[in-house]
Amino acid sequence: MIELNGIRRYFQVGEQTVHALNGVDLLVERGEYVSVMGPSGSGKSTLLNIIALLDQPSSGRYILNGNDVTRQSDDELARVRRDNIGFVFQFFHLIPRLTAAENIEMPMILAGIDSRQRKQKVREALLSVNLLDRSEHRPNQLSGGQLQRIAIARAMIMRPAILLADEPTGNLDSKAGLEIIELLEQLNQQGVTLMIITHDKAIGERAKRRIRIVDGAIVV
Ligand code: ADP
Ligand code: MG
Repeated sequence: MIELNGIRRYFQVGEQTVHALNGVDLLVERGEYVSVMGPSGSGKSTLLNIIALLDQPSSGRYILNGNDVTRQSDDELARVRRDNIGFVFQFFHLIPRLTAAENIEMPMILAGIDSRQRKQKVREALLSVNLLDRSEHRPNQLSGGQLQRIAIARAMIMRPAILLADEPTGNLDSKAGLEIIELLEQLNQQGVTLMIITHDKAIGERAKRRIRIVDGAIVV
C-alpha cells in the first residue's frame, strides 16, 4: 500500500542544509499497525508528512496503492490525499469558530457531498466517537481528549484506508491518551492502516510493528 524508496528530504535554512531524511525505504501493507519512535528532531514528522502527501521528498520515490505519487501536481496530490489519507495532529488543528459537528462536516463540504448526506454522516461519526451530546460545542468548550476524538472523526469522515497520527496523545493526560489509542486501534481492527508517531514507549510497544528513526534513517 505504502512503498518508499530512498526517500531524502533536505531543508535549506539560510546557508545551512538540514538533512531531515537520509534515504528511507519502507513498505507498509494494507491493514498494518505501525508505530514510529525516535529522538526529537530525528525526522519522524517529516516522514509522516511525506506519507500524508503534505510534503514532498527532495529525492526518492513514493508509491501509494501502486501509483507513483512522487512528482504530481498539487491538485492531483490533494485529490489523492483526500481519497486515501486521514491525518491526526498533536494539537488537534480543529477550526476554532466551527462547532464539533461543523469541523467533522468540513471535508465533506470540500468534497462536494450534499447536505442531507453530510448531516447523516456527521451524526454517525459523532456517535462512533461517543460525542453526540457535544455536536454544537466549539473547540474551546471541549477537553483535550474530546478535541482529539472530534479530530479523528473528521480525519475518518471520507473513509480513508490510511490513518496517520503525529503524537496524537502528546497533549493529553494518560487516561485520555489511552482512550485515543484504543479508538485508533479500533479503527485499525476495522481494516484501516494505522501509523502512529509517539514518544510514549508503552504506546509505541502496543503496535504490531515498530519503526525507530535516528538521524533521518530507519534503524532496526
Ligand atoms: P521529529 O518529528 O522526529 O521531531 P522533524 O521531522 O520535525 O523531527 O524534523 C527533522 C529535522 O528537520 C529537524 O532537524 C528539524 O529542525 C528539521 N525540519 C523539519 N521541518 C523543517 C522545515 N520546514 N524547515 C527547516 N527545517 C525543518
Ligand atoms: Mg515531530
